[in-house]
Amino acid sequence: NSVLNLGDGVMNSLNPSSSATLVEHVGQHPHKESFKIVPNVLEDILGSNPYFSAGFGLMGVGVGLAVLRRSVSFLAHIARRRMLVTLEIPNKDKAFHWFLAWQAKQDKISSASRFIPSHELSVETAYQQRPNGSSEAVFNLVAGPGIHWLKYRGAWMQVRRERETKTMSMAVGVPWETVTLTTLSRDRNLFSSLLNEARQLALRDQEGKIVIHTPWAGSWKPFGKPRSKRSLNSVILESGIADRIILDIKAFLQRRQWYADRGIPYRRGYLLHGPPGSGKSSFIQALAGSLSYDICILNLSERGLGDDKINHLLSNVPENSIILIEDIDAAFNKRVQVTEDGYQSSITFSGFLNALDGVASGEERIVFMTTNHIEALDPALIRPGRVDMIEYLNDANPSQAKQLFLHFYEGTEDGKNNLLEAGENLESIVRRHMDDHGRRISMAALQGIFIRYDPLDALRICDETLMKAKGT
Ligand code: ADP
Repeated sequence: NSVLNLGDGVMNSLNPSSSATLVEHVGQHPHKESFKIVPNVLEDILGSNPYFSAGFGLMGVGVGLAVLRRSVSFLAHIARRRMLVTLEIPNKDKAFHWFLAWQAKQDKISSASRFIPSHELSVETAYQQRPNGSSEAVFNLVAGPGIHWLKYRGAWMQVRRERETKTMSMAVGVPWETVTLTTLSRDRNLFSSLLNEARQLALRDQEGKIVIHTPWAGSWKPFGKPRSKRSLNSVILESGIADRIILDIKAFLQRRQWYADRGIPYRRGYLLHGPPGSGKSSFIQALAGSLSYDICILNLSERGLGDDKINHLLSNVPENSIILIEDIDAAFNKRVQVTEDGYQSSITFSGFLNALDGVASGEERIVFMTTNHIEALDPALIRPGRVDMIEYLNDANPSQAKQLFLHFYEGTEDGKNNLLEAGENLESIVRRHMDDHGRRISMAALQGIFIRYDPLDALRICDETLMKAKGT
C-alpha cells in the first residue's frame, strides 16, 4: 500500500510518537482508515510548527468568542422575550403626543413617578391662552431621541425615542418617530394605566376648550392648540335666532333612535347667511363649545381639494364635531380641473353634493354652512335634507348694539347707571340711522370701535361711522 508506506515514512521521520496511533488504526481497518492519514499528517506538521499552532490557537479563541457572543445574545434575546414587554408608540398615533406631554409633566404632578432623562431633551413650545384672551408660550421639556428611564408606580421602564431621519412623512412634513417603552413582563398592565393617565391629562387640558380641525393631507388634524370656549351669550344675535337654532340642534341630538328606526340618515344641515361680520362663525363656534363639540372647518376654495378628498373628509369627521363650511357661495367648477400632476384641483358642484349626502345612516353629521350671498346659491344645495334650517344674521339692530356695548364696557369705572344710559343712547343713535336712511353698522365694526375707544367716544364714533354708511 503506497499511501500507507508513504505515510509511515513521513510519520516516522517527523513525529515518531504518532505512528503508534496510525499503526493501530491501520491494523484494525487497513483499507478504510488509510484516508485519515493525510489530515493527521497535516495536523502533525502544523502542530509542530510554532507559527501555525499560534495561528490555530488564535483562530480557536476567535471562534470561541464568536460562539460565546452569539449564544449570549441569543440567550439575552430569549430572556428579553420571556421577561420583558415592549410597547411601541408611533408618532402617527395620538398616544405618542399624550405620552410625551404626560412625561413632561411627571415631576410636577406626582412624586410616585420619576423621569430620568438622558442628556438629550427636546422642547415643545405650546401657546396657552389666558382667560382674558392673551397668550403665553409654555416650553415643555420632553424626552429627546435616545434612551431615558422612567419609574412609574414602582416599576422601572426604559423609554427609547427613535427618529427616522432619512424618510419623512411626506404628508405632514415631520420625521417618523417612535417611542418604545420596555419593562418587565410582570408589569405589563402598567402600560395601559400609564396611557390612560396620559390620555386623561390630555383631555383635561382640552376641558373647557374647543378643538378646531382643518384638513391636512387628506384627513382632519387639530389646528393649533385647543382654544378657550367662547360663551354663547357673548355672541349677540337678533332676539329669537340663537334660541331657535339651539332648540333645534338639541332636539336633533336626542333623536338618534328616531332617525335609526326610520332608516333616515342621521344628519342635520344649517345655513347662516347675512353680511360679513354679523357673527355667523362666532356663533357656530360658541354653539359647538356649549355642546362640547369640536369644529371641523372646511374651505371649499382651498387648492388641491378635489371631489374624492372632500368625500373622504366628510365621511371621516372626528367624533362629536360640527362641520363648518364657510362661504359656500364660492364658485364651483362646472368641469373637473386637473393639476399638472394629475390631481383634481378643485371640487365640482355635483361632487360636493355627493359628499354632503353620502353618509351612512347611523352616523351623526351636523353641518353648518355660511354665506354672504344666499341669492347666489343653487337651490339644489339648500333643499331640505341638505339644509334643514336657514337663519339670516343681519348687521346690528339697535338692541344688539346696546347689548354689545354693555357687554364690552361692563365693569369699567363708569358707574352702572351711566353705562346703561350710554347704552340706551347708542341704541337710539343706531335706530335713528336705521329708520331715517336704512343705514346700519356691522357687529364686527361695533366691536372694533368698542375695543379702541372709551364709552363716550365710542358713541360719537358710532354716530360718525353710521353717517358715512351706505343706506339700504
Ligand atoms: P361672520 O362670520 O358673520 O363674517 P364673525 O363671526 O367672523 O362674522 O365675526 C367677526 C368678529 O366680529 C368676531 O370677532 C366677533 O367677535 C365679532 N362679532 C360679529 N358679530 C357679532 C355678534 N353678533 N355678537 C358679538 N360679536 C360679534
